[in-house]
Amino acid sequence: MAKVTMNVKLLEMSENAISLIYVACRQCYSEKFAGDVFADTSIAQEKQVEFVKKIVASGHLSPLEHVKFTFAIEGVSRALTHQLVRHRLASYSQMSQRYVKEKDFDYIIPPTIEKNPEAKNEFEKLMSAIQQSYTKLLTFMGKDNITGESANQDARFALPQAAETKIVVTMNCRELLHFFQARCCTRAQWEIRRLANKMLEICHEKLPEVFSGSGAKCEELEYCPEGEKFTCGKYPVKLNK
Ligand SMILES: Cc1cc2nc3c(=O)[nH]c(=O)nc-3n(C[C@H](O)[C@H](O)[C@H](O)COP(=O)(O)OP(=O)(O)OC[C@H]3O[C@@H](n4cnc5c(N)ncnc54)[C@H](O)[C@@H]3O)c2cc1C
Repeated sequence: MAKVTMNVKLLEMSENAISLIYVACRQCYSEKFAGDVFADTSIAQEKQVEFVKKIVASGHLSPLEHVKFTFAIEGVSRALTHQLVRHRLASYSQMSQRYVKEKDFDYIIPPTIEKNPEAKNEFEKLMSAIQQSYTKLLTFMGKDNITGESANQDARFALPQAAETKIVVTMNCRELLHFFQARCCTRAQWEIRRLANKMLEICHEKLPEVFSGSGAKCEELEYCPEGEKFTCGKYPVKLNK
């Protein structure tokens, strides 16, 4: 049982991302077959890059849906993944608390609790007590011959939202842009914001043609739509009509 830190690793992204977006977009306006355009090596990379930048700037975003990124994420709380999976246009595979016994679960401590010695002590005591109760529940159920997945799936009801989890996430570029708009905002909860910023950093490095202007929605709007109460002050407040 220990405190853990977030780790985000890019497993894979679509190969030939720029060409994929370029070809998908060209198919909308050309009678040429996308299969032939994709195979045509005479189309300069610079031309394709310019094209992709233009369609991102114009907001014609559906061709971006053909390019996807897959991330492996660990060292995050169940509280985070509960928020993450609300983003429906994505694919998820998460460590199960049925198939994986939480015999020595790790946990995430919010920074506000960590920096306060009394709060931290209370939090750690609670995690330890939950671990003990979880283990006792498995033992008690074992006496009724309820073991393995059947026991795990019910004992997990006692686990905290702080419990560490691991998840694999795939999102296409359009959904990633949307995810960053919502979750890189300072209004988003700190842990998912930290995750979104790490994912954005990776996306920006791998595909700057798409992600260079990406971030919280204010970065594109150049104003804050969150209202006076919630604004971080980076941009002037203006409410969407
Ligand atoms: C700061 C913040 C606070 C939040 N607080 C709460 C809260 O208190 N309670 C709560 O329940 N949630 C809360 N959420 C979650 C939020 O309501 C969304 O569920 C979550 O952000 C996913 O966003 P989404 O639906 O836009 O995105 P996605 O599911 O990723 O979908 C992307 C876009 O696709 C379109 N789309 C997807 N599915 C449909 C559909 N079925 N019908 C029509 N269009 C669709 C929409 O345009 C949507 O914006 C909060 C989110 C943030 C960022």
